[in-house]
Amino acid sequence: MSFRFRLTLFGAGVVALTLLTFGWLVYQLAAHSQAADQDRALTKRAVEAVAAAQAMPAEWPATLASLGSAEDLRSHTDVFVLVLSASGTPLSTSARIGDAPPVVPLDVLQQAVSRGQLLTTLNESGIPVRVFVRPWAHTNQGLDGFVVAGQPISVQSTTLSGLKAFLIISAIPALLAALGASWLVTGRALRPLRTVAQTAQAIGRTRDLQQRLPQREGKDELSQLSQSFNQMLAQLQQAHQQLAAALEAQRRFVADASHELRTPLTTIRGNAGLLAFGPGLTDDVRVAAARDIASESERMSRLVEHLLTLAQADAGQDLQLTPLALRPILESVSRQAQVAHPDRQFHDVGVADVRVLGDEDALTQLLWILVDNAVKFTRAGGQIEIGLAEQNGTARLTVADYGTGIPAADLERIFDRFYRVDPSRSGAGAGIGLSIARWIVTQHQGTVTAHNNDGPGSTFTVELPTTR
Ligand code: ADP
Repeated sequence: MSFRFRLTLFGAGVVALTLLTFGWLVYQLAAHSQAADQDRALTKRAVEAVAAAQAMPAEWPATLASLGSAEDLRSHTDVFVLVLSASGTPLSTSARIGDAPPVVPLDVLQQAVSRGQLLTTLNESGIPVRVFVRPWAHTNQGLDGFVVAGQPISVQSTTLSGLKAFLIISAIPALLAALGASWLVTGRALRPLRTVAQTAQAIGRTRDLQQRLPQREGKDELSQLSQSFNQMLAQLQQAHQQLAAALEAQRRFVADASHELRTPLTTIRGNAGLLAFGPGLTDDVRVAAARDIASESERMSRLVEHLLTLAQADAGQDLQLTPLALRPILESVSRQAQVAHPDRQFHDVGVADVRVLGDEDALTQLLWILVDNAVKFTRAGGQIEIGLAEQNGTARLTVADYGTGIPAADLERIFDRFYRVDPSRSGAGAGIGLSIARWIVTQHQGTVTAHNNDGPGSTFTVELPTTR
């Protein structure tokens, strides 16, 4: 059952309940005033009849001679007057029930005597009759008895059933009008909800997260709903864009990683093939081939290491830290880098003896990331300076180059995963090196920052808390 239909039924139900309560109240009120009116009319008629009877000059008959023009109460509902003797014998009547005058039991007459007058309902002859009984006396004629004014109570129910019919008949159009009005009003009120549903369906069908609901004026619930819906769409769109960017970066990363693995593998295969020729090779060629294999294997294992570190970071694993000296790590990386890149000049500047709580492999990897970048962005023959100093309980490790430098706007973002300043400038890198570097430094409770030198190139600074 649709929401609109339910709301309509509810609205019409409320109206029906109101009509019912109102109708019942009107009916009760009418019934009550009908009874009171009838009692008043009977009392008045009895009092008049008593006055008229007492004023009659002629003598009363001892008993009722005939029913005369008395009206039958089975078919007439007018007020009648019945005069009874003190013993209850009818002396005069304007009504009959069949062939007999209406019967008033003796106990009713006695009650009228004791109370002075009596209003009651009789049902002696199968026709409920409301009566007012009053004793009277004609002192001149030595007569006494009762005057009874009565009327069938069916006269009330006739009027009331008319009222009932009127109430029922007038309630039907009112109810139909309420149904129609509720249907229209709920349809109008629910229109914005339909628009939300249609927009949501359209988005689901077309996958176009740029669609928005029209903005509504005012601050009612429906305006809030469209606002929230639009906000949700904006967030969804943003999340979708981020996801798409992340997927694209992931895809590029896989492509780049396979490319980076393929290059050293090709070199290694070529050199290994060359060495397989055997004694025909000169010593110089053999040594050069072996060196190539060694340095390319280094490069490959570093890349694989990067991948493993990334996986470790994503899995939420923490590094195991132990106290260690930084200087030997730095000197070892610097030495190996010089061997791997004889066309760059590596200098160790102000190297101090510093101990930190760290993971040796991770710190070595961190240094290699910074050194590899420095190499990548420095021309052949350029200088790269690696420094280590201690100040106020902080170890400061720096890698400075005299290369291209980094655009100021990118100095912070280069640490984001998959962020590359200018893909055409960075070559085959996937933009993961510095994000790994930052993860490693964060694991060591330290910081890593980049800034451009006053002259050419840039300097990366890693600060770590020292230990004993
Ligand atoms: P990649 O793994 O591709 O080298 P990184 O995360 O290491 O990516 O570096 C991110 C970006 O920072 C690179 O695209 C590069 O443009 C810039 N960058 C890093 N180091 C240097 C540097 N020493 N000089 C100039 N730019 C650098």
